[in-house]
Amino acid sequence: MPKKEFPEQNQTQPGKAHKMNPEPTLMRPSYKGSDKLKDKVALVTGGDSGIGASTVLHFAKEGAHIVLVYLEETKDAQSIKAEVEQMGSKCLLIKTDLSHEVNCIHCLQACIEEYGQLNIVVNNAAMQFPQDSLLDITKKQLHKTFETNIYPYFYLTKAALEYLTEGDTIINTSSVTAYRGSEHLVDYASTKGAIVGFTRSLSAQLASKKIRVNGVAPGPIWTPLIPSSFDDISDFGQDTPLGRAGQPSEVGPAYVFLASEDNSYITGQFIHVNGGEIIGS
Ligand code: NAD
Ligand code: MG
Repeated sequence: MPKKEFPEQNQTQPGKAHKMNPEPTLMRPSYKGSDKLKDKVALVTGGDSGIGASTVLHFAKEGAHIVLVYLEETKDAQSIKAEVEQMGSKCLLIKTDLSHEVNCIHCLQACIEEYGQLNIVVNNAAMQFPQDSLLDITKKQLHKTFETNIYPYFYLTKAALEYLTEGDTIINTSSVTAYRGSEHLVDYASTKGAIVGFTRSLSAQLASKKIRVNGVAPGPIWTPLIPSSFDDISDFGQDTPLGRAGQPSEVGPAYVFLASEDNSYITGQFIHVNGGEIIGS
């Protein structure tokens, strides 16, 4: 897939709002909630669009209140907040750049001020800048990718630990690229691999506190990240066994499962929502 250029500062960033045709489906109309997350508070990063937005909507449908953290798409975030409120849940919007630790700490402070509790942390925000050659990955891009995709997992989770207690959960967003590599996304796939190591290590560390740490490793999912990263997306997802890209609505329910009590005996694991590609480990 031909790439778009790594953006210089002040130019459009991948992940930015992008007119999508067709519009992604965030929750299938037939999805029924059953109070799986009733009165829990969930903080979801990158909750304004794509997989994060789907997660926010499913969590709200299951009775959770939301802290939705996003980078810059206020219109997207407001429309998700409106949907959450229609379902009878609360939604606190926080527009911030999570690559700075102080901003992650602020998110936790705002969450506790608003709700007095936090039960579910979904680390999901990310960016990608495809390059055909390792030689084209500038130091600037390398830093940007790691500062965006993995450092906030440490910052935010560190800040959250003070409030999480037995039965609470942390859910991290890796990618199929962590498991099989990606020719065009060497730096991005490296951060997604780091997220696997982070998840497994933290799950071991927090097991004695009965806090579960799991993850989702999506394959090709139709979100704004895709058209904002690649010029030609005509074959996106076609090479999966199911022969198509997935919708965010097909990923959100995996987060519900991992966040809920249904998943009381699983920690340190990933769900591979990837259209059928077999993942070895
Ligand atoms: P998306 O662009 O809709 O969502 C990503 C969001 O991250 C953005 O909306 C933005 O608000 C947020 N974000 C980016 N940088 C940020 C920063 N510095 N501070 C705060 N927020 C920031 O894309 P998506 O596809 O839904 O991506 C969600 C997750 O899914 C990412 O972790 C991505 O790596 C992962 N993923 C996506 C696919 C796919 O095919 N779409 C495949 C595998 C993994
Ligand atoms: Mg977005």
